[in-house]
Amino acid sequence: MGELRVRSVLVTGANRGIGLGLVRHLLGLPNPPEWVFAACRDPKGQRAQELQNLASKHPNLVIVPLEVTEPASIKAAAASVGERLKDSGLNLLINNAAIGNNSSLDNVTQEDLAQMYATNTIGPLLLSQAFLPLLKKAAQGSPGSGLSCSKAAIINMSSYAGSIQDVYVWEYGQAISYRCSKAALNMLTKCQSLGYREHGILCAAFHPGWVQTDMGSSAEVKAPVTVDESVGGMLKVMSSLSEKDTGTFLDWEGKVLPW
Ligand code: NDP
Repeated sequence: MGELRVRSVLVTGANRGIGLGLVRHLLGLPNPPEWVFAACRDPKGQRAQELQNLASKHPNLVIVPLEVTEPASIKAAAASVGERLKDSGLNLLINNAAIGNNSSLDNVTQEDLAQMYATNTIGPLLLSQAFLPLLKKAAQGSPGSGLSCSKAAIINMSSYAGSIQDVYVWEYGQAISYRCSKAALNMLTKCQSLGYREHGILCAAFHPGWVQTDMGSSAEVKAPVTVDESVGGMLKVMSSLSEKDTGTFLDWEGKVLPW
């Protein structure tokens, strides 16, 4: 596995955790992207301080306002990215933003499920629709017939917790709404891979590992994987993806996971 070479990439939920790690690593590549779009809810606020610091050092980093549960915000983000890219498309869309909780069969509510789906499933769906014209443009502008993340790709940050076959870490919590939203995201990824193949767009679902972030941390157990390990691994895996990998579910080390 080599180094990811990509002209333009957009990461959602980029102000902290794995999203911020992805942005840092992309900017630090020996051949960094010409454009790194870091999408977050409040680009000028305190929560985006680290992104603002990075942007002051890296002119190829553009912070884009994005609330993934608001269709108008998604459309505005796609329009502003399109303006920056001018005649070229977007190569790589990483749908990373998500929320989680540990709701149980006893206490999960309609509101909880609705909010989880809105963020973790519907958000990636609407983002992919909104950025589709830019992804198609990138695919058309890339030579060769195969699929790759350098050409055009959608990576949906899923979770092994959404695997129906393995129901990963059930012993640590039921996380009903989260698991259901990620299982649905996995199905969406498979459908996208089938629908977008003809447009030259690779689609895959990733499990980043159990990672030391706000979401991955708990008072009882320390997550085994650091953000740097997870992100470094995932970018390497992305660099190696080809035609045969579209519509797969992979972990941060490149292992194929059961749906
Ligand atoms: P964090 O909770 O650390 O960060 C989540 C990010 O998503 C934040 O930037 C947050 O922004 C953003 N976000 C949440 N809701 C919205 C919204 N409505 N609109 C825009 N942005 C939003 O999570 P991680 O970094 O740990 O997780 C990243 C991805 O990896 C997720 O998809 C998660 O499900 C997945 N994952 C993580 C694992 C782990 O162990 N950490 C394990 C398996 C999967 P804000 O700061 O504004 O809230």
